[in-house]
Amino acid sequence: MPLELIKEVNGVPEVELLSELNKVDFRSLQPGCDYSKKYIQGKLSIISSLTSGGNRTAVLKIALQEQENSDSDINTINVLFFGKLAKDCAKVFYEGDTIAVAGFSVLSASSSTGRDGKHCLFLKAFEDFRSTVYVYVKSVRDFSTESMSLVPTTHYIYTPLNQLKGGTIVNVYGVVKFFKPPYLSKGTDYCSVVTIVDQTNVKLTCLLFSGSYEALPIIYKNGDIVRFHRLKIQVYKKETQGITSSGFASLTFEGTLGAPIIPRTSSKYFNFTAEDHRMVEALRVWASTHISPSSTLVKLCDVQPLQYFDLTCQLLGKAEVDGASFLLKVWDGTRTPFPSWRVLIEDLALEGDLSHIHQLQNLTIDILVYDNHVQVAKFLKVGSFLRIYSLHTKLQSVNLENQATLLALEFHLHGGTSYGRGIRVLPESNSDVDQLKKVLESADLTAGQCFDGICQSEHEDSFRSLSSSGSVSLYEVERCQQLSATILTDHHYLEKTPLCAILKQKAPQQYRIRAKLRSYKPRSLLQSVKLHCPKCHALQEVPHEGDLDIILQEGATKIPDTKLQNTSLYDSKMWTTKDQGERKVAVHFVKNNGILPLSSDCLILIEGGTLGEIYKLANKFHSVIPVRSGYEDLEVLDLSVPFLIQGKVHHYGCKQCSTLRPIQNLNSLVDKTPWIPSSVAEVLGIVPLQHVFVMTFILDDGTGVLEAYLMDSDKFFQIPASEILINDDLQQSMEMIMGMFCPSGTKIDAYPWLECLIKSYNVTSGTEQQICYQIFDTTVAEDLI
Ligand SMILES: [Zn+2]
Repeated sequence: MPLELIKEVNGVPEVELLSELNKVDFRSLQPGCDYSKKYIQGKLSIISSLTSGGNRTAVLKIALQEQENSDSDINTINVLFFGKLAKDCAKVFYEGDTIAVAGFSVLSASSSTGRDGKHCLFLKAFEDFRSTVYVYVKSVRDFSTESMSLVPTTHYIYTPLNQLKGGTIVNVYGVVKFFKPPYLSKGTDYCSVVTIVDQTNVKLTCLLFSGSYEALPIIYKNGDIVRFHRLKIQVYKKETQGITSSGFASLTFEGTLGAPIIPRTSSKYFNFTAEDHRMVEALRVWASTHISPSSTLVKLCDVQPLQYFDLTCQLLGKAEVDGASFLLKVWDGTRTPFPSWRVLIEDLALEGDLSHIHQLQNLTIDILVYDNHVQVAKFLKVGSFLRIYSLHTKLQSVNLENQATLLALEFHLHGGTSYGRGIRVLPESNSDVDQLKKVLESADLTAGQCFDGICQSEHEDSFRSLSSSGSVSLYEVERCQQLSATILTDHHYLEKTPLCAILKQKAPQQYRIRAKLRSYKPRSLLQSVKLHCPKCHALQEVPHEGDLDIILQEGATKIPDTKLQNTSLYDSKMWTTKDQGERKVAVHFVKNNGILPLSSDCLILIEGGTLGEIYKLANKFHSVIPVRSGYEDLEVLDLSVPFLIQGKVHHYGCKQCSTLRPIQNLNSLVDKTPWIPSSVAEVLGIVPLQHVFVMTFILDDGTGVLEAYLMDSDKFFQIPASEILINDDLQQSMEMIMGMFCPSGTKIDAYPWLECLIKSYNVTSGTEQQICYQIFDTTVAEDLI
């Protein structure tokens, strides 16, 4: 049909007719091209009345405004409809409608259609040309024409996760393996991260954004099943990922076999067919045998020190502690193995039923939530049911008034969203809430009123067993024997060797050990990042910004040579600054086959720029190379400064191993943009340095203490050393890992075990020979992250 209406529900088209056709941006329209299989889409901004053209053909003229690329020069275009199509459209169109036109021709206007000479194109559409017009309507309008049909709702096709292709928009089903509850991202949008898996065993991580919290998937735990409609698939850093596209919609279901299949969604309109029912059932059956049930949900009676877990609980009280932290008093009807710490606040500040809280005090715990979670906590209603994700416990000794010491459990919800940290309110209808209510009703409020120092003995016992020399409580032994916070990636055949035996043997050898991290150096994680040359193995410090600035200032004293400007490789521009000594700055814009690319794709070479100027340019352009004028060509400035800057990432080269080659060699790369650091280094004769973590671990397994050296770019911590300097989240993750390995304020007995591979080697310094040890083929356990 030449005119089709597509029903929109909540701004989302019920069917996608246009997925087979290619959409064209307004700015790329050109006269004379074939647009029979393409379409444009925009908002109807102007509609003129129906007129008669030559030989009495009806003509309808409209203006469409492109919703995307609104910053583009060309974001509105005129469309002329002819004949019957014009008449039909005139009955249907309203200003503000979203309209797509498929199959049209582009003409260039003869005279004054555009004011500035840019908007001089218009489109022509008529039935004979097989033009089709799609109008997105919110409800069925009261009209009809012969050439119009209301498209019926069709069946959705779901793509298995092993068949996803970048650049497509798909519908998928999957079981949740990991998720971050919605959080306010840097803009005003909410963000949620969800990793799903399906029967093909392929995982897909989705980054979901929405202006409203409710529109994001309502996931309560790993194992829930989700249905995503209109998920855009893209490939980022070689990994396929899903992101929200316009009209994204989701349903979430409980993943438990046999549980009623009730979709969770904030949308009032969604279609759910018998086939959907079967899809959910099939995923539940598959998940029941292929995915281990969520082990992160823990009851308070099973909580251990130094644990990260998810808690289902009821909120009894809350109080603001300071701007950066907030107190939640919660219970789940069971009692923690150690008493909860008590956060000091004024009774007045506490919102909640004080007498109720007092009555339940041996069953309530105090949780401190930080940073981004404070805002969420403020709005929680006392009495509501919560799930708190990735809650962290620490064991602290507390001095009581009667001189006794007591071990108390601290509960923290750290800032950020790593590891899915967050809080979610569970509805009363949730089956876990149902169970929780039963436990709360039958909770024994009178049992063990131990918390006011009346009967400390039980807890003192456990304290003594932890702290008395050499003897560790049974409970701790059990825990430590089971877990290792690291895993081996190879050499599993090696038998464990005690450290005391290793210390007696000659090098070189390889060992498998199991030890605790007594301490580590350097304590400041950022100091552990160094630059390593893979060729000569030299290690060097990452230069300070101040040092970079000085080297750049020295480079700026040389005046750019005008002979080297405007070559076939680049266009040049020179400025004289107004600062000290009228510094000259030259910027060379590298062309792609004679044409200047968009700034986001463009490599620039800069002569005489300061660090601040280079940073500013690096924000705007794809890549920046600091250079100076040589005799015959521009040269890389000095390998003490980065040879390439991309955004905030600095790429350094080895001074010893590099043999610099002329800048003109970049010519061989202009076709192969984007500018890949390793390729740029190669053509310029530079051996690139690698960012690595260099640390010393002091390991202790009870039989001996051994210092082992760790040098890692991204394998051990699963965190790229090159990015940690510029990424707060990664710094936090790293601190979290080290805090877990080597928790402060706790006895080493409670530290986790680390299973590691180490190799010994001989180091000669002067006449002395020494055996050193290095950690290799070991990685932080995935469930720790
Ligand atoms: Zn080197």
